[in-house]
Amino acid sequence: MMGREGRLEGPMKNKNFKVSVVIPAFNEEGNIQELTEKLVDILKDYDDYEILFVDDGSQDNTLEILKRLHEKNSRIHYISLARNFGHQNALKAGLDHASGDCVVTMDADLQHPPELIPQLIEKWLEGYDVVYTIRKGDPGVSFIKRKTSGMFYRLMNRLSDIHLPRGAADFRLLDRTVVDVLKDLKEYYLFFRGITAWVGFRQCRIEYTPEKRFAGQSKYSMRRMLGFALTGITSFSLKPLRLSILLGVSLALLAFVYGVYVILMKIFSGQAAPGWASVLVSVLFIGGIQLIVLGIIGEYIGKLFMESKQRPHYVIREKSRES
Ligand code: UDP
Ligand code: MG
Repeated sequence: MMGREGRLEGPMKNKNFKVSVVIPAFNEEGNIQELTEKLVDILKDYDDYEILFVDDGSQDNTLEILKRLHEKNSRIHYISLARNFGHQNALKAGLDHASGDCVVTMDADLQHPPELIPQLIEKWLEGYDVVYTIRKGDPGVSFIKRKTSGMFYRLMNRLSDIHLPRGAADFRLLDRTVVDVLKDLKEYYLFFRGITAWVGFRQCRIEYTPEKRFAGQSKYSMRRMLGFALTGITSFSLKPLRLSILLGVSLALLAFVYGVYVILMKIFSGQAAPGWASVLVSVLFIGGIQLIVLGIIGEYIGKLFMESKQRPHYVIREKSRES
């Protein structure tokens, strides 16, 4: 494979490109300082870099800390969103404003080890456009999270046409060409894991063991994770709708067979099917199924409605530089 031209040669190895690191942060006051120190220590080996924090409407001291860091080191930048727009939208804001030849996205809580960044860059220099990471063994992740996440990836791969490797998170390196493609995406419901699998290009994976969250708590509650999973599935698949059709057809067939049975009973034994319990159960059952199917359709229509508004993904309150 061809390397990035002119970037691999000998002592000039780290000279001709700029690395951007994009980090969404929502109430991460306890992590930012530590993470920045580690990042600066690693990135100083490269000729040019920027660290771009996206403050996703934090209510703690996150923004103050970011401002202080920016004053001390002009390579550290921040964008502060007008409210909490969510992790994926914050990522989008970061990608939109990053200026590097390659962009690394990672979490603010040190679960994604900064020490891995040189490896990501190494792979990029070899010529890969997307270098994504896979969690391998996860001592830092709770039992419930591990189980639900495993279930999600299985379901997602079953239902959609893209393949999402299990344990993929938003810790990856993207080449400038890929970032430019992602910047142009207009879809309101973002699911970057799916989109980066969907764009193609030359992709490569690296495995890592996630750390425990350094400070603070996870910002993804069970409810948010469910919403996130639903967005992932509905963004990349129409299969739930098709499953509804299948369900409807099979139930209708069943009802038909049962109808024939009841009529035959009436004709040959002179008595109708006994009891109202069976009627009640089937009415309730079918009613339930109908509501579920309606809900699935509603979910898609709702998403369509939101998309049609074409609202921006985020609103910026302030930032550390113009572009
Ligand atoms: N995050 C964000 N906005 C949100 C929720 C999370 O910017 O509304 C950031 C958060 O600060 C962190 C990253 O997204 O940098 C991942 O969040 P978290 O560590 O809480 O998720 P987990 O690792 O538990 O899945
Ligand atoms: Mg985390």
